[in-house]
Amino acid sequence: MFKLIKKLFTNSKQSNDLGIQISNDETNFINQTMKAVLVQELDKRDYFNKEHSGKIIEHIFGRIDLNKGKAYLSNEQKEQLGISKRLKISEDLIEIFNKEKIKGTNPKKLLSNLFNQVRNKALEINNLRKLKNVGFKYVRLLNAGGKLSCEWCKKNDNKKIKIGDAVALIDRHCQCDFIRVTFVVDKNYD
Ligand SMILES: [Zn+2]
Repeated sequence: MFKLIKKLFTNSKQSNDLGIQISNDETNFINQTMKAVLVQELDKRDYFNKEHSGKIIEHIFGRIDLNKGKAYLSNEQKEQLGISKRLKISEDLIEIFNKEKIKGTNPKKLLSNLFNQVRNKALEINNLRKLKNVGFKYVRLLNAGGKLSCEWCKKNDNKKIKIGDAVALIDRHCQCDFIRVTFVVDKNYD
């Protein structure tokens, strides 16, 4: 996954697996949007230690991998933190969290949720921007479905939405761990 994202975002001149050239403009737009979304998301998630925002950014952009490190937590350390002994947690990973707020959680999952949210949201914003640029006014929300979707996303599957309202609606209502909806156009829309 990281390799693909890295390829998409850092080597825009090269063709990806679909043989599509991504322009530098689009790459820059997605990168800037990812940064802006990341700042918003870190603000909402109090279990991240903002002092380490720099490291989180590096991880999200695939320049480092916080899941790997020189040293990993011992069973005693995991017990103290209230983290399952089955998880292999690097010291570098645990550093980015407010330790008292992650008891009973899976820190790897919290970080991958953040990554998925930032990437998916930035890609959807880019998608909406392109649809708007070619003149569409409305989109249809499509929910990937399944257990991971929140009630609001399930309830609003197939709903017709004004392009300009799409992001605000998601921000206001979606409770998913990360965005799992996409927006498409409908040939019947004006
Ligand atoms: Zn949702």
